[in-house]
Amino acid sequence: MWGMIATWRMAVEGITKGSELLKAGKDAGDAIETAIREVEDFPYYKSVGYGGLPNEEMEVEMDAAFMDGDTLDIGAVAAIKDFANPVSIARRLSHEKVNSLLVAEGAEKFAHKEGFERKNMLTDRAKAHYRKRVKEVAAQEIKPYSGHDTVGMACLDMTGKMTAATSTSGLFMKKKGRVGDSPISGSGFYADSKRGAASATGLGEDLMKGCISYEIVRLMGEGMHPQEACETAVNKLDAQLKERRGQAGDLSLIAMNPKGEWGVATNIEGFSFAVVTENQEPTVYLVTRGEDGHCTFEVASEEWMENYMKTRMAPIEE
Ligand code: ASP
Repeated sequence: MWGMIATWRMAVEGITKGSELLKAGKDAGDAIETAIREVEDFPYYKSVGYGGLPNEEMEVEMDAAFMDGDTLDIGAVAAIKDFANPVSIARRLSHEKVNSLLVAEGAEKFAHKEGFERKNMLTDRAKAHYRKRVKEVAAQEIKPYSGHDTVGMACLDMTGKMTAATSTSGLFMKKKGRVGDSPISGSGFYADSKRGAASATGLGEDLMKGCISYEIVRLMGEGMHPQEACETAVNKLDAQLKERRGQAGDLSLIAMNPKGEWGVATNIEGFSFAVVTENQEPTVYLVTRGEDGHCTFEVASEEWMENYMKTRMAPIEE
């Protein structure tokens, strides 16, 4: 069995490419890196890689991670600027015994020395979004933190190897130097080929309070189906945050186990995800969360898919 599951509709082209490798018997590390690079390179996804939305100072600072579920190797970069594919730098760092999570200038220096492609990641479109938001914030107290989405993936290859990886430009208008859950092991991602892999999107500050990707892998290790593991972990953290703090930020998770079974859970409206397995063509689903915290999903209609692209590519009215 092989398969991949990923957060948001934006991942579908990536997992389609990744699935070609898996189908051909290739490695889960190569497949997930290929899949995430595809999302990083697409200029109209405004929360990952090229075209990602900038921080308060109009700089695109990105976080990314890679984990090998066989060896438990982890590599990650945080607040890195001006490199085309943060996920590849993260994967390269996963081969290091020490110094495998690098931030800002340190990460950039490493990437430069290793010959990774430099690229100005701030597009004119992202600048237009920025200028628009500055105006809106000045006009009224709009939460600067809406408008984000991380691509997070879990992958299983034919040999039974599992990987997890993430890439994001983080929260729009974040403070310079702010790091979310995405490059943090156990929070934004986790992979263990014996138990499964999981990844998160949502409000990093809250996702980190539950080490939620690890929690899901732990539950799968105890024998829970990925769907039950995702719902159990998300509902528990959501309830805990509400009880202790009065509110919970956005929490959305995807997971896969070593059998290629998968699951998702969310505490928001409008979460979408993409999945492909040996038995299933690449498919985008939309998730609905019931009152009881149980999540159901339906295949996104063609109309929804077309609308999605139209909105992504529509001109920005400043
Ligand atoms: N989790 C990401 C962060 O907090 C953002 C997102 O997934 O929407 O940086």
